[in-house]
Amino acid sequence: MAHVVLENLVKTYGAFTAVNNVSLKVEDGEFVALVGPSGCGKTTTLNLVAGLIPVTSGEIAIGDQIVNDIDPKDRNIAMVFQNYALYPQKSVYKNLAFPLQMRKLPRDEIDRKVREAARVLDMTHLLERKPRELSGGQQQRVALGRALVRDPAVFLMDEPLSNLDAKLRVQMRSEIKRFHQDLKATIIYVTHDQLEAVTMADKMAVMNGGFLQQYDSPAQVFAHPVNMFVASFIGSPAMSLIPLEASTVNGQTVLTGAEGWTMALSPLNARKVQRSTTRKIVLGARHSTIKLAKSASPDAIPAKAYTVEPTGDVTFVQVSLSGAVVNISVPPNVAIAPDEQIWLEFDQDRIHLFDGATELALK
Ligand code: ATP
Repeated sequence: MAHVVLENLVKTYGAFTAVNNVSLKVEDGEFVALVGPSGCGKTTTLNLVAGLIPVTSGEIAIGDQIVNDIDPKDRNIAMVFQNYALYPQKSVYKNLAFPLQMRKLPRDEIDRKVREAARVLDMTHLLERKPRELSGGQQQRVALGRALVRDPAVFLMDEPLSNLDAKLRVQMRSEIKRFHQDLKATIIYVTHDQLEAVTMADKMAVMNGGFLQQYDSPAQVFAHPVNMFVASFIGSPAMSLIPLEASTVNGQTVLTGAEGWTMALSPLNARKVQRSTTRKIVLGARHSTIKLAKSASPDAIPAKAYTVEPTGDVTFVQVSLSGAVVNISVPPNVAIAPDEQIWLEFDQDRIHLFDGATELALK
């Protein structure tokens, strides 16, 4: 396997910049997810690594070789797409063997590699079937197998699970994760599904508008999002972002909501606000860090329940607060009605504070 380095990668289409100065290193054997909303430049980045489109500027290295001017077929990569791209007339065996025949490998070596891939992916019993005789998940496994027999330095996967139904997607998610663990493969994996990225990847590259927003482990990205975009994109339900006004009252730093309530900040959070130049602060809180208070108290913030969504295990309540919609979760036995007056407590150790103007996390 090999590492992959992108340095100041740019791709423009006329005046439009699809990939804007992206730099990152995928370590040898690492699983990296490129994640972000539709149109953020994930697929373009992957296609640049694959060599399917030429770079505008910047450098791509696979292993120790700069590959900008190297043909896709000579980059030692294998791609897996969402539409599988299997040959419908060929058996699974022949689908797997075909790329090796093209490389003119001896017949017994082809047979060995095909059977080994089939064993790894648990599809030996499917080798004689045609693609139309396979389920979606099995077809996706053949597509993975076809990438595997090529023994590439890097696997590039573009939304490989998006054609599968929800249940199968979860199952294939763990199969691909297993595939990565067993083979210690270097994988770059494009998905718009943050949950897929969080659950599978060693690192995630969160993109928006062609820019790389944050590149780190899912746990770090979840716990320390660098800006409001990343904060709201990663996690479900999304982190609530509440615009507030900072001020000093009797020597204490407080945040004031549009309804006039105030929240005193812990010393650590107060220092973050004091260090910033803006008074427009956005408070970020995940549903799990907001507690329902029993009644009015100095620390509790009054709010009105807006919608109530029981999901079985947990009930999500949406609350309007300071012009924002805030997601909270309560146990299923807690009865809250729409429009009911409730009180919220924010866990000061787990809230996030952002500069309302730059949208960057306060440090
Ligand atoms: P999705 O999840 O919808 O596939 P993506 O993040 O993979 O989105 P890209 O396919 O990388 O997005 O596209 C990034 C941007 O570049 C989009 O705005 C797209 O319209 C634009 N783009 C892609 N290919 C071209 C092209 N050949 N000509 C002009 N613009 C393009």
